[in-house]
Order: sequence, then structure tokens, then C-alpha cells
Amino acid sequence: MSANRLIDSFGRQVTYVRLSVTDRCDFRCVYCMSEEMTFLPREQVLTLEEMALIGRAFSELGVNKIRLTGGEPLVRNNLLHLVRDLGALPGITNLAMTTNGSQLPRLAKDLREAGLKSVNISLDTLDAEQFTLLTRTGKLDRVLEGIQAAREAGFPRIKLNAVIMKGRNDDQVLALVTFAREQGVDISFIEEMPLGDIDEHHRGETLCTSEEVRELISARYELVASTENSGGPSRYYHFADHDTRIGFISPHSHNFCGDCNRVRVTSEGRLLLCLGNEHSVDLRAVVRGYPGDIDRLKETLHEAMTQKPERHFFSAEGDVEIVRFMNMTGG
Ligand code: SAM
Ligand code: SF4
Repeated sequence: MSANRLIDSFGRQVTYVRLSVTDRCDFRCVYCMSEEMTFLPREQVLTLEEMALIGRAFSELGVNKIRLTGGEPLVRNNLLHLVRDLGALPGITNLAMTTNGSQLPRLAKDLREAGLKSVNISLDTLDAEQFTLLTRTGKLDRVLEGIQAAREAGFPRIKLNAVIMKGRNDDQVLALVTFAREQGVDISFIEEMPLGDIDEHHRGETLCTSEEVRELISARYELVASTENSGGPSRYYHFADHDTRIGFISPHSHNFCGDCNRVRVTSEGRLLLCLGNEHSVDLRAVVRGYPGDIDRLKETLHEAMTQKPERHFFSAEGDVEIVRFMNMTGG
């Protein structure tokens, strides 16, 4: 085993880090947050410089992909500085972001110039009223403008992410797929995960499985399974007549832990070794206790690998097993 790689006790190499740059957000999506949220005091959140150092340590340990997420990453002030720093790391070949799209009209072009390679934009419905019901504070038009801005900025691959819930937006599946084809972007459908105790619906009742979503799509479009493997929970398909790809992210119905190549860092610097387990290591204590000491940070990351659990368990009944809200973990 190489000292320059992160390999866990089950022989899996970590090459992908999801970094949450803030727990704050301008939306309050019903599956992600409750209406009233308490956010972290600012001093508990890592500075952009601390995040850049953590990114560098990972890149020197074989990580080649970093995804910036949140909360909403684009509500973090001066995020472009971090994008530039991470984009300049020689080992990082894929610097990506997941965003709700609301700030893309003003930032898409600068992000692309700063070195962001790809962007995932969340879009659960094309019905303006439903959109505001699901996000509580969001406006559909603004997000559609954001998608347009990302296309104009020239991102080579744009992907939409949709969480589908029975009785809430399952009527939108075909409209979303048709929209993705028209826009020439990819789309992934996500099964709702039991993270955080939300108050609007019972997840066991609203769970719409990837299988069910795929059947809705197959009624109109012919789908061809792809062999692509992202090392994550996605399974990919493409259309027989179009190059738009369709992903299904199925934490409930597809156990993907065997190929897991990723870890997460929360905005307060907690290294989470598995989305569905509480195992974590405090990186903030290291970056604040030993400022600039990248060797100590790399040693901590190495040691953390022994704690990565073999797999997660989510119950199909939608019971909350993990009390963190999704905005803490970045999805
Ligand atoms: N604010 C950004 C956004 O919405 O794209 C990035 C953070 S958000 C937590 C990342 C992704 O997680 C989004 O695509 C969102 O739809 C998804 N998500 C949030 N809560 C979820 C849940 N309980 N189950 C499944 N996906 C969820
Ligand atoms: Fe905000 Fe994204 Fe969570 Fe929606 S899913 S509340 S946009 S962090």
C-alpha cells in the first residue's frame, strides 16, 4: 500500500471528496431542511483558506475529484477564490459543483473561468407553483435562467438532479426528461434519503424508487443501460435516439458500498467516512491546532481510513437513522 494514497480497510481507494462549503442556503427544500433552521455560528465554519489546505492534502494523497456542495455553495462569499485555488491543484482533474442554480445567472461565467469543470443543478419540477412549494423560497424562473447561464458559460457537461416523491412531483418525471433532452444536458433521479428529521411528509409514503421512475420514462422513451460506473450510487442509461444520459441514484434499492471511492467534509471540517453512518474525524482541530501543517493533515487523513465503514443501511420505511440534515453533508 502506498503512503501517497488513501486506502481503507476493505481495499477501496478514496479518489473523490465532496466538500461542503457552507450549511446555509437560500432555499428550504422540503426533503432537505425544516422551515426554521439554525445554522452554524460563522466561527465554527472552516475558512476558505482552511478548505483549500484540506483540498491540497487530499490531492497529494491521490484524490482527483472534488465536488463543492453545501448548503448552497454559491451563497458562500468569495467562493471563487476557493474554486481558483482548488482548480490550480495539479492532481485535481475534475473540480465539480452541485448547486440549486439560483446564483448561476450572476456567477456561471466566472466559475467556469476560475476552473470549475462541471456543474450539477438541482431541479425537481418544471411547474412554477410546485417549485415554490418544494423549495419553500425558490423561484423556478431564476433556476431556469441559471441553467441557461451555465450552458452559455460553456460547461462541457451539465447534469440536472431531481428528487422524486410520490404525490408531490412524480407527475413531473417525463417533463423533466423531455426538458433535459431539449437542453442537451444529463439528468439524474435521486431516491429521497432519510437524513434529518423533516416535518412535511412521511418518507416511507413518498419514497419513489428508481425502478418506478424508470418505468415512467420507459413508457415514452427507449432506455439503454450503460456500463459506466462512477464508484457511487448512480446507475446510468442513455436514450436509444439521443446522447442525454439518465442516472438513477438509489441508496435504498441498490447497494453500492462495495465500490465506494468517496468521503465527505462538512463545512465545519468534519470528515465523514460514510453518508449513512456517523463515523467522523475532526479536521478542523488539526487545521486550527497546527496551522499550515499539511503533513499532519495528511497523516490524519491516512489514519481516518481505518474508520471507513464497510457499508450503510437505510430503511425503506423512511425512518430517520442519521440525524444530520442533508445540508450538513452536502448529499
Ligand atoms: N444546494 C445544492 C443543491 O440543492 O443542489 C447542493 C446541496 S444539496 C444538499 C445536494 C443534493 O442533495 C441536491 O441535489 C438535493 O436535491 C439532494 N438532497 C437533499 N436532501 C436530500 C434527501 N433527503 N434525499 C435525497 N437527496 C437529497
Ligand atoms: Fe438548499 Fe440544496 Fe438543501 Fe435545497 S437541497 S435546501 S437547495 S441545500
